Amino acid sequence: MNWIKNLKKSFVEKVKQTFKRERPSRKDQDNSLWINCPGCNQMLLKEDLKRNFNVCKCTHHFDLDPKTRFSEMFFDDGEFEIIECPDWADPDPLNFKIGDKKFIDKYNAYKKKTGQQSAILAAKGTVNGLNIIAFGYNFQHGGAALTQREGEHLIAGIQRALDEKVDAVVSFYQSGGMAVTGNLNSLKNMPVQMMAMKMLKKAGIVTIGICGSKITGGTFCNVYGNDFIFAENPKSENLLFAGKRVSASVNKGHELPQDFGQASSIVDHGMIDGAFESRMEIREKITNLIRVLLKKSEIETKAESTSNVKVDLQSVS
Ligand SMILES: [Zn+2]
Repeated sequence: MNWIKNLKKSFVEKVKQTFKRERPSRKDQDNSLWINCPGCNQMLLKEDLKRNFNVCKCTHHFDLDPKTRFSEMFFDDGEFEIIECPDWADPDPLNFKIGDKKFIDKYNAYKKKTGQQSAILAAKGTVNGLNIIAFGYNFQHGGAALTQREGEHLIAGIQRALDEKVDAVVSFYQSGGMAVTGNLNSLKNMPVQMMAMKMLKKAGIVTIGICGSKITGGTFCNVYGNDFIFAENPKSENLLFAGKRVSASVNKGHELPQDFGQASSIVDHGMIDGAFESRMEIREKITNLIRVLLKKSEIETKAESTSNVKVDLQSVS
């Protein structure tokens, strides 16, 4: 009866081909004027979404690139100075290859696409009059995976914060972790950054980490170097070391909760300090928090008669 099986198989294949939906390519999606919202499943005009800082009416937060965030909704009058990435910082010390493609070629393509020197945009400016150094992780830059270059860029920004004794360092996180292409050179970012954050603390500089979505691996660990950690909205997701997809694959047979790794859930479990209702309110709320903390810091400084903490990060990097 093989002929019946073959006939059935060819009929099923023909039906599949007839109703097959062509998925638009990434390039087609980038070039389209419209985007589908995963929160409410509505088609949104990209221009309208941009005017609302990439937040849908249903409160779904789309990614926001650091340059737009800094210039349009964070620094006073949209003005800031970019902190340069050290030229010598090598993103590919191992000359890594992925298949027959050189990693450095991919990395250079990310730089061209984002217009950034590394996956981090480091900047200095004022926010409601406070002196702030901010780091923005750009997910469009290879998932903001941190190579040795990103690590040195962060250190350069933190050294500047120490030298100029700014009021606070604010980091907007969104990253898949330490780049596997760099091996130990990338993993070194974790202890060095933790030590650098400790030096900021010692110098009385407030550190605040704000989580977008998709923060996993070593970057999620490093978030804990901050004095305070917030999610930019309650629906920020994939905020755990391994992320939802990987955690599900190693916990076969155990159904993960629907809100696994979601901001509202990890706030309830005490893993971070809180979640903003929307990225729209971050600027005002963290300004108030920093002011309260600095006042407390001033009193403590007078009592302990300590001042001018001078530290050099080159000694730890
Ligand atoms: Zn929506």
